[in-house]
Order: sequence, then C-alpha cells, then structure tokens
Amino acid sequence: MSAQTRFILQEADLPKAWYNILADSPVAPAPVLNPITKEPVTPDFLSAIFPMNLIMQEVSSERYIDIPEPVLEAYKLYRPTPLIRALRLEKALGTPAHIYYKYEGVSPSGSHKSNSAFAQAFFNKEAGTHAMTTETGAGQWGSALSLACQFFGLDLEVYMVRCSYEQKPYRRVLMETYGAKVFASPTDRTQYGRSVLKEQPDSPGSLGIAISEAVEVAATSNGKKKYGLGSVLNHVLLHQTVIGEEALKQMDMANEYPDVVIGCVGGGSNFSGIAFPFLRENLKNGQRARLVAVEPTAAPSITRGVFGFDYGDSAQMAPIVKMYTLGHDFVPPAIHAGGLRYHGMAPALSALIDAGLINAVAVPQIPTFKAAVQFARTEGILPAPESAHAIRIAIDEALDAKEKGEKRVILFNLSGHGSFDLSAYEAYLNDSLEDYDYQVNPDEIVKHMPQVSIPA
Ligand SMILES: *Cc1c(COP(=O)(O)O)cnc(C)c1O
Repeated sequence: MSAQTRFILQEADLPKAWYNILADSPVAPAPVLNPITKEPVTPDFLSAIFPMNLIMQEVSSERYIDIPEPVLEAYKLYRPTPLIRALRLEKALGTPAHIYYKYEGVSPSGSHKSNSAFAQAFFNKEAGTHAMTTETGAGQWGSALSLACQFFGLDLEVYMVRCSYEQKPYRRVLMETYGAKVFASPTDRTQYGRSVLKEQPDSPGSLGIAISEAVEVAATSNGKKKYGLGSVLNHVLLHQTVIGEEALKQMDMANEYPDVVIGCVGGGSNFSGIAFPFLRENLKNGQRARLVAVEPTAAPSITRGVFGFDYGDSAQMAPIVKMYTLGHDFVPPAIHAGGLRYHGMAPALSALIDAGLINAVAVPQIPTFKAAVQFARTEGILPAPESAHAIRIAIDEALDAKEKGEKRVILFNLSGHGSFDLSAYEAYLNDSLEDYDYQVNPDEIVKHMPQVSIPA
C-alpha cells in the first residue's frame, strides 16, 4: 500500500479555542513600556490605538481563549487546512526522512494572515470601531485584513511599504478589490511620513515607517479608527495557534510525531502559530520536538540582533517592548521576502529563543529560492518567498538525515503561496537575485535603543 499524502480534518475538528503560550511559558513577559514616559503602559495608552477586547487578550494569562462563533464561521471558508506529506520531495532528495507541511496558502488571502485578520476585524466591530488602519509589507497582511474588514463591515486604510507597492502591484489591486484604500508609505498623509520624505524623497519605506503612519492615523482619529497589527503582538500569535492545534491532530492521523518543527519568521506569528502547541507538548507532556525559527540573512534579528528594549516602529510612537532587534531605524535591503523585513521579533517568541527553548537560524536569499523551485517542481505549490525560508531548512534537515542514515520526521509551516511573487521567481530564474549578508554592529544598535530603567 502506498503512503498517504493528505491528512484532512473535518469542519467539526476546527479548534474551538486559541492557545495562549503565556500560561505555560517558563519566562515571565517583560513589561510593555510607553514610548514617551518609558514607564509600563496603561490600558489607556493602548486604547488610543486598540479596542479594549484585544488589549485584554494581549495581557491575558488564560491558557485557552474561546474562538467566537462568527470568527469560526469565517475560518470555515478554508479551515481546517490540509497537512500534506511531501512524498515527491522526499523521493527527489533520496532521504529516509518524512517531510510534512501544513498548508496555510488555502486561505482566501493566500496566507496564514487571515487567521488573525478575521479575529481582529470581529473584535473591532464588537468594540464599535468604524474603520481600521494598518501597514503591510509584502501585501499579505493587507489583503487578509481587507477581506476581513469587508466581511465585518469596517473601512480600512492600508499603508504599504513603497518598495513592495512597486514590486507587487497586484497585491494592491487585490486589497482594492476587497474594498480597502491603499497608500505607498512613506506618504504625505501623516506628519511622520512627511518628515521621512523631506529627508529622503525616494525612501523605499520600511515596515517600521509604515507602522508609524498607520498608528499616527489611528491615534489622531478621536477613537474612530483603530490600528491592526499583523504580527508581533501576543494576541496575533494567539490567533495563529489554530495552525499548530490542527497539525497536532493531523500528525496523529499520520501516526507520527515531528522530531523538528520549522517555520519562517518575520514578526514571528506563523512560526509561533505552528510551534507553540508543540512547545506546550514539550513543556507539559514530555515531548521533545526541536522548534526551529528561520529568518533571512538580510534581516537577521534573532541570529544577530540584540535582545533588549526597543521601539516597535521607526517614529518611536509604538510601545517599547523587549525583543530581538536590529534597531528601530533599520531599513532592510529590498529582498523579495517582503514579509520578513521587520527590525524586531515578537516579544513572547524572543523570550523563548533567549531561554533556549526555540532555535534560530538564518538563510540567504538565493539558496532559499533554490529550495522554493525544488519544492514547486516536486510538490506543485509555488511557495511564498517568506515560506521558502522554512522549506530551505526542511530540505537541509532531510539531507542531514540522509547523510546520517536516520529516519527523521520533519514538519514545516507553508505559510502562504507565491502566486503574487512571480517577479521574484523571474529574477531568480534570470540569475539576477543577490544575496545580502547584513553586517550587524551590536554597539551601534544599542546606542539607538531607548534608555529604560526597567531591569533588562
Ligand atoms: C507575513 C508573512 C510571513 C511573516 O510574518 P510572521 O508574522 O513572522 O508569520 C511569513 N509568510 C507569509 C506567507 C507571510 O504573509
């Protein structure tokens, strides 16, 4: 009998609750600081940009938080997502390893971002928000939130990093089709955007700048508009845990348990989404899966950055959090994995990496695309360039297992499809991609970090 390829759950198997790592994490979360006073934030400060129900999730230490019925209804459009065994890839590699991937690209927006977008739009609607503002790098978060705002009856303004706006015009069209207004950031619509343009009229933008613009618009709207962030925050990681909860059940259907769980990291949400339920099993049920977060060498926050307090955005308006950072003024090279160019990393994930519970590796752009093409040619799915970072390490693990002659069970998250990234693939196929190795000077980063009196 040939091996099974797809492991499919039924609608009734949809997780009914999100898993909150803060309930089980052995590392206490550092306080979130007000960027002006540098004292711990009050709910008042956060409520200028977020609705109170999401603030309560952000600080919750409840282990499980129920998923509201309207969010489950939206999830049912594409969840449970499939778990697929990469049999053709295994064969091409000649490896004794078994490679499984959880495929989040089946969501309407094409990535895992919909898992938090539907939740955030729902909770904002519940709280009486009229419109949301957000930033987007590659456009996946913007697309996901555009559809979610359309479903729940909210207006949306998207500040899109200029270099992605230019590299990926079709993502903008998708957001507009779903009903959002999209602006190339830096814009002249905000005080901060104008100040950046004055210094550098041809600024390619950065996620840090776009976040500043979206936050400024919400903070100066007299409470009418709220801001939504697509990664980094505890409540976003929380919403993504449906990925890992489903994957646990599906690995069970396959009668296997992963030796290693892999995901790419930009702000940390899809990786945390697949890995945190497996971390719970490590911490509470004696499992020993290795958890590996993969980032690009062009924006190497967790492998080369500094772990300390830094601003979440470039304008120093967003809260100060303790995380791995390349400095809030980091402007990354224009690599094609636009979703992996953030200067920082989710604080909850950063603390677990610092504690040694999660491993971090960085890979360059060209070997990443090589893995993406090998995956496309064997499995058929064209991966998002971000997701390809996880594929690179999954393939390296499978080759390592081959060399050592061991059977290894590898699970990775395929966070999205790359159907809007064809210009990146074209550049790779034409040999016109470059590798960037971002040289980090930790002293320089530290010099730009805020001085805080909280013991680090
Ligand atoms: C946004 C994005 C990422 C990176 O963001 P995380 O918060 O780290 O998950 C990775 N893959 C895809 C497909 C994305 O859209």
